[in-house]
Amino acid sequence: MTRFNGEALSRETAADGEEEEWKEEEWKKEEKKEDSRDAREAIIELDDVAFGYTATPVVENVSLRIDPGEYVAIVGPNGSGKSTLLKLVLGLLRPDRGTARLFSQPAHQFDDGSRIGYVAQHASASKSMPITVREVVKMGRFPHVGFGRLGASDREIVEEAIGTVGMSSFADRRITALSGGQRQRAFIARALAGEADLLVLDEPTVGVDADSVAAFYDLLEALHGQGITIILIEHDLSAVTAHAERAVCLNREIYFDGPTDEFTPENALARTMGATAEPERETT
Ligand code: ADP
Repeated sequence: MTRFNGEALSRETAADGEEEEWKEEEWKKEEKKEDSRDAREAIIELDDVAFGYTATPVVENVSLRIDPGEYVAIVGPNGSGKSTLLKLVLGLLRPDRGTARLFSQPAHQFDDGSRIGYVAQHASASKSMPITVREVVKMGRFPHVGFGRLGASDREIVEEAIGTVGMSSFADRRITALSGGQRQRAFIARALAGEADLLVLDEPTVGVDADSVAAFYDLLEALHGQGITIILIEHDLSAVTAHAERAVCLNREIYFDGPTDEFTPENALARTMGATAEPERETT
């Protein structure tokens, strides 16, 4: 960023006084902007992260900052490290190298689960768990009430979350008796009831019919509008460019990170696929 130099300003002549004042104002504004960005708590900060399940890293040289309110899609071929990256972000795995911070804390030490709503791939529900949508959503409130019972305001929040995802008429239905898309929405409602400010979704629309996918993206759009930060792994690149604001294209390393309107799936993916065909030599 270009900064105005204080010394240069002081050398300005009196005749340039007005300009000087203007420059000082601009300088102050720029400073303020930068300060507020720095002071704002990043949701996620990965710095030069590497991780491997074995000696070979599956994620490498990854630096990534995600700020509050962003809507980010992580894309890349199968096996490119997307789920691993999410696990590093959530502190479920610890980097072999570099640092991973979540809400300004080391990710693996972060313990305020209620701030994060995680919707796994094929949001599964055990058949032996005969619980209803409402009960699932209530679970989102538990971190707020400890071992106590849900109060009237908690129950109100639960009903509101169910309403937000359009599941009010299914509230008493067992979670196992829902379609994939409905189940995803129930899990999002659980995150909303917990007042999560980060929603992390791993291929949420796999196996979901086209109409439900459209409704699902409308819901994410609405939640994004409310300021919730969204990170999503998505295999459907047209969905990424249509809905997310920022795309991060990964194949062990990050090959593209920028606004989706600058993201050309063909180019970005060709580059990541190229890297798959001809892996870079490992440096030690
Ligand atoms: P993606 O989500 O992009 O499909 P993953 O992060 O699941 O990729 O996997 C990246 C690589 O790590 C793959 O080669 C995969 O086989 C390997 N991998 C993933 N999970 C494990 C695990 N638990 N143990 C060993 N290897 C794993």
